[in-house]
Amino acid sequence: MDFLDVHTHQSGKKNGVTSIQSLSLTSDIFLAMPKTKPISIGLHPWYAKLNQLPLQMRYMEVLAKQDNVKLIGECGLDKLKGEPLHNQISILKEQMLLAEKIQKPIILHCVKAFSELMVLKEELQMKIPLIIHGFNKNQQLGRQMQNKGFLLSFGSDILKSGSGAAELVKNSTQFLLETDSAETSIEQIYQAAANLKKCSVDELKAIIFTNWKELNLL
Ligand SMILES: [Zn+2]
Repeated sequence: MDFLDVHTHQSGKKNGVTSIQSLSLTSDIFLAMPKTKPISIGLHPWYAKLNQLPLQMRYMEVLAKQDNVKLIGECGLDKLKGEPLHNQISILKEQMLLAEKIQKPIILHCVKAFSELMVLKEELQMKIPLIIHGFNKNQQLGRQMQNKGFLLSFGSDILKSGSGAAELVKNSTQFLLETDSAETSIEQIYQAAANLKKCSVDELKAIIFTNWKELNLL
């Protein structure tokens, strides 16, 4: 059974690892977008511009339907970077509606805007799975997001003992794992999660495999 990495910015292929490479359509890379390997595509809040949205959404509408596009995103909200928040919300909404239309899960980037995310989920009555990637806030906020129906994905933060991410991994089976842009390998992240859960890496692989299957990512 492979290690599953739901969110990475690395393009390389590694034996024994299935990963979803995240591409932002705000750069020109989409002209050479992979046609077969699993990817996610979206307008990243750091780079997305409201005045380019109509054009970029036209590309998104076409490309998002490709079979190898497993997720829409990363997209999301970031109060520390990018366009003013109300513009980011407009950009995110379009992508959420597209994801709902084509029935693909969304992978979200969120910095200091968790309550806005909850409001959007309600307002748009989202039914598709919404994954918050790289969750590194406290356990209480994590639980709150899980209770609102968000799925959390954790990265290298689970290696910091006592962190919110580590505690959430310890106490739940509904989560995904990722490398993002970190140096830490997916194998190390699985090992850390297995240690936290006091289970074997193989048992953990089975848990994550089930979570992926439920999302139709395999
Ligand atoms: Zn990322």
